[in-house]
Amino acid sequence: MRIFVQTYGCQMNKLDSALVTAALKEAGFEIVDNEKEADAVLINTCSVREHAEQRVLSHLGNLKHIKESKPELVVGVIGCMAQRMGGELLKHPAVDIVCGPGQITQIVELVKNAVETKLKTLAVSENIRKSPADEKCLDDFESQYDSDEEQPPGQAYVRVMRGCNNFCSYCIVPYVRGPEVSREPKVIIEQIKRLADDGVKQITLLGQTVNSYEYKEGGKTYSLADILEMANAVSGIEWIKFVTNYPAEKYFEQICEAMRDLPKVCRYLHIPAQSGSDKILAAMNRKYTAEQYLELLEKARAIVPGIAVAGDFIVGFPGETDEDFRQTVELAKKARYRNCFVFKYSPRPGTAGERKLKDDVPAEVKRQRNIELLAVQEKISNELSKEFLEKIVTVLVEGHSKKPHLDGGNLQLVGRTDTDWIVVFEGVENLAGEFVKVKIARSSPLTLFGSLAAD
Ligand code: SF4
Repeated sequence: MRIFVQTYGCQMNKLDSALVTAALKEAGFEIVDNEKEADAVLINTCSVREHAEQRVLSHLGNLKHIKESKPELVVGVIGCMAQRMGGELLKHPAVDIVCGPGQITQIVELVKNAVETKLKTLAVSENIRKSPADEKCLDDFESQYDSDEEQPPGQAYVRVMRGCNNFCSYCIVPYVRGPEVSREPKVIIEQIKRLADDGVKQITLLGQTVNSYEYKEGGKTYSLADILEMANAVSGIEWIKFVTNYPAEKYFEQICEAMRDLPKVCRYLHIPAQSGSDKILAAMNRKYTAEQYLELLEKARAIVPGIAVAGDFIVGFPGETDEDFRQTVELAKKARYRNCFVFKYSPRPGTAGERKLKDDVPAEVKRQRNIELLAVQEKISNELSKEFLEKIVTVLVEGHSKKPHLDGGNLQLVGRTDTDWIVVFEGVENLAGEFVKVKIARSSPLTLFGSLAAD
């Protein structure tokens, strides 16, 4: 039986898809990279933005047509949208399986059952606060299957915590992924060691708010800084990244010091501000002011020379005036991010924002603010990228670039630096998963271009 897994959304979803793929492979299923060849299609979904859900619904619409001529095709929806919509999604004529993020451990059984019985199955959490037994089950699943599936060669994600306690008013994550639960340090490090034994060189530690990692054991409290130190000691691992950070004081200095002192920890900090207006930050239920946020960036830059900082913003949040937006632009200018993502607000069903706040910023205003903020960021990214000209950077190669033979010339490869800059350069086929030195010849706001540097 051939299975195609399509992933929408963030790194958490990519990791879940990697685990699901590994479990299905071990159970004897063949994983294919073309939906047309598949006997079963699993869609791992994202609920963070309306647009992400619409893409899934449109995909399901296509699958409905395919099923008319191929009725034996099994379609499963997993991930956040499955948890959010549950039985409603199961009513879709294309859908056979609805499986929440807390139930991915059951995926093999769910697919087998759908094939054999042709019955529709719903597997979602009734209570998003999982029992210790369920947490253990997820942990075992996570430890059993290596998370380097679907990742560029030599790279893997390692989840250090699940869920989120913050309840930002626009965000669905705490409702679909449950409260924060940090994984045991020993289990995390064992997983990293296994990945290193398999040839993984870069791990990315994942958590919705990875810097709030906290695990108490034997009178000691472990923070993310401790996990970084333990991971740094694993032989074979060369680079360690971690995403995503919530702007909070707790453990921030220790984590920055770990970044400064541990040679394998990359100098890259993704720390979304979301807005530069204190009024909007309060409405978003973010627990900091713009000034406090900028103080954190200042602290990070003072502790870690050469650190690259990335952020996210939401524009057009309910009540956002021109003056609020101007404060966001000011914050972006002061923050001088390496890059940042800008999203237009859309209310998510089930969140406090959707229940209590009127989506009162017109679509055209959101669009204009999006364009303006991106232009501000592009200018900053462009200036920062120029600092690399004529410099030699170390790159972990991911594979072919999107245009592998640009202008009919030599093969173009792509990789990233420790500060997460994308680098495109001429190379040879077999460099994916290797570290190389690249001399930068030109730059754009998001990408550095160069050629292999002589040793
Ligand atoms: S910190 Fe806020 S935005 Fe991030 S996952 Fe938690 S609730 Fe969502």
